[in-house]
Amino acid sequence: MASLTSLDQIVLVLGYIVLVAAIIILVYALLIFTLTMVSIRRGRFYLPRLVKPGLIVVEGLLRSLWKAMRLDDRELTSFAIRLRNQMNHGRFCAVPMEQRAIFLPQCLRSADCPADLTIEGLRCKRCMRCDIGRVIDQLEEGGRKVFIVPGSTFVRRMVKKYRPGAVVGVGCLLEVKEGLEMADSMDMVAMGVVTSKDGCVETTMEWDKLLEVVNLVPGDPLTAISLAP
Ligand code: SF4
Repeated sequence: MASLTSLDQIVLVLGYIVLVAAIIILVYALLIFTLTMVSIRRGRFYLPRLVKPGLIVVEGLLRSLWKAMRLDDRELTSFAIRLRNQMNHGRFCAVPMEQRAIFLPQCLRSADCPADLTIEGLRCKRCMRCDIGRVIDQLEEGGRKVFIVPGSTFVRRMVKKYRPGAVVGVGCLLEVKEGLEMADSMDMVAMGVVTSKDGCVETTMEWDKLLEVVNLVPGDPLTAISLAP
């Protein structure tokens, strides 16, 4: 049998490396998948420090496995949010009220909202056509900053400008998930609260849940947010 040339040997070694890497990634994805499934079914988080990066590193593979098992994709996104909220909870509670910032999506407004768009987002006029007018004073209590923003660009800009110690982001499932990941990449303590109705206009949310989160202080358990959505 003819001996392998140097080029053949290099190709063979590369082939082995790719194969081993693929097996490691697959095993890792299966491990994250299993831990996620068990965590969801049992209502507690197993090895969260391992699962959190895994949800990003092998997200595509994880979602494919999820679909193959005919599971609801939203359940995975919701789990990712709850996991980050749970992991950020302790640090969030320790941040003084005046160092907290709350970001509300503009879709919570009334379709007839008279608020003006400024470089810091929309300024609520408390016209009471939507629930923001009813709760905004409570949200601002203790010196917390409240922004009604049209998108993530505003969030980034305000975070860079005011450098809050912690943020609370409100949005649909995907927005909150991506917002929490963005905050993590900026080394920012963040909590996410998901709206109860998706959409682009006149969405709704459970305001009591948001108030519970923004008012968290050391020693408080994470009740509403850890159960939702
Ligand atoms: S209460 Fe504020 S946010 Fe709601 S519609 Fe009026 S001005 Fe707009």
